[in-house]
Amino acid sequence: MIEATANPMIKFKMFVLLLFTSFLLSFVYFQKAALACEFVAVSHFNEVSPNVFIDQSLTPAQQAQLLQDIQRAVSRVAEVYGAPIATPRIIASEDARYKTLGFNPTGMQTSGFFRECVFIGPKGLNTDVIAHELVHAEVRFRTNLWVEITQLPAWFIEGTGIQVDYREPFLQENIVVSSEDIAHIKSVFYLSDFPNTSVKYYQASLQAVKPMNPKYLYEGLQRINNGEPFTTVFKDIN
Ligand SMILES: [Zn+2]
Repeated sequence: MIEATANPMIKFKMFVLLLFTSFLLSFVYFQKAALACEFVAVSHFNEVSPNVFIDQSLTPAQQAQLLQDIQRAVSRVAEVYGAPIATPRIIASEDARYKTLGFNPTGMQTSGFFRECVFIGPKGLNTDVIAHELVHAEVRFRTNLWVEITQLPAWFIEGTGIQVDYREPFLQENIVVSSEDIAHIKSVFYLSDFPNTSVKYYQASLQAVKPMNPKYLYEGLQRINNGEPFTTVFKDIN
């Protein structure tokens, strides 16, 4: 009799424990970049300049080069869009494990819990990739989460990033995209649906944002943050 009454309680406790564990694991899985960003200061990464963290995989020469590339990237963003106000935490590594942990080997930007974060991998240790990621950080820093989720299309986020990314495929003379390609990428809203393995769609995103005056970006983001819809604020590119 005792067993009959105890079992459901044990089952219930097991269920709660299982639920809690799976919630925790999925949180860690989906937020691993944000967690890595927030906890990097207590990891083996060293802060070599304010908000710049690197591990032992970078040689002193690469470290010096990285700091110079960051300076250049900030200047480039300032030149194109105006002075940035976000000061994202930049984390760089050449370690091969970096990719196996699910981090983009070139670069990626993510929002932490308390700050914007930029991860730079082995293929992204250059001014172009850093500038690209800095623009993503700036756009996210200037908009609230609701705006980000409901208003900013993937092509806009990528296009504004590519605009300061001068790697060869993104130079105007190397871009051949059709109006169908541009129309197609403009039909994709969520970054999770963005065909991010195709250079063509990054090029198309750049072409899609081209008609916008870059110096208007920050003001436009401010207006969206104040409640105006993306389609009105950025009507030049809609
Ligand atoms: Zn990007």
